[in-house]
Amino acid sequence: MKNHHKNYAHFFLFFLFIPAFLALAPDNVNRVARVIDGDTIELENGERVRYIGINAPEIDHLFGKEAAEANSTLVYGKEIYLQYDDQERDKYGRLLAYVYIDSIFINGWLVEHGYAQILSIPPNLKYQDNLLNLQQIAKEQNRGLWAKTDKKPKEEISDPIVYVTKTGKKYHLANCRYLKKSKIPIHLSEALARDYTACSMCGASSLKIKKAKSETQNAE
Ligand SMILES: [Zn+2]
Repeated sequence: MKNHHKNYAHFFLFFLFIPAFLALAPDNVNRVARVIDGDTIELENGERVRYIGINAPEIDHLFGKEAAEANSTLVYGKEIYLQYDDQERDKYGRLLAYVYIDSIFINGWLVEHGYAQILSIPPNLKYQDNLLNLQQIAKEQNRGLWAKTDKKPKEEISDPIVYVTKTGKKYHLANCRYLKKSKIPIHLSEALARDYTACSMCGASSLKIKKAKSETQNAE
């Protein structure tokens, strides 16, 4: 319960920061012509935009339609502001962006309300901690993807968070002393996919990814 309040504190600090950014970046304004799904849109100028740091279910998967509708309600036909991270485009040529409408941080809103879960892909990690906090709120409130009667995303059940550094090639448990300079949370599956290896000092090698086969055992 105490952690709960701490999360909210992070959340409000984060939102205070946004208007300053908007004032500095008036050139990145675009109108949304089409909503592809819960994390991808198309602009009037034809550019596709993939939201950074999050992943919404595909349209034909569980909760995918709801996520797309929520995204549509937020952004369709509206002027949005784009903020980029280290990489401006992905390998498909889509813009990678943090999306804002007025003071709403859309990537964060979707995570906070359970329409998307975090997906951290280095080097685009600017708001990773904030998104993780927002996801924690969604989980605590059993929202959307985290609703108790819904099937939980398998990935999240079985794929623990580990920590990496900006320069190292090892992954660590949260309390490892090698995390003093930088501490970036990512899923173990992502760490392995990026060829990080387990730190032998903190016991990170004890973490495993379990492919949960049973779905809703306690569905009512
Ligand atoms: Zn370690």
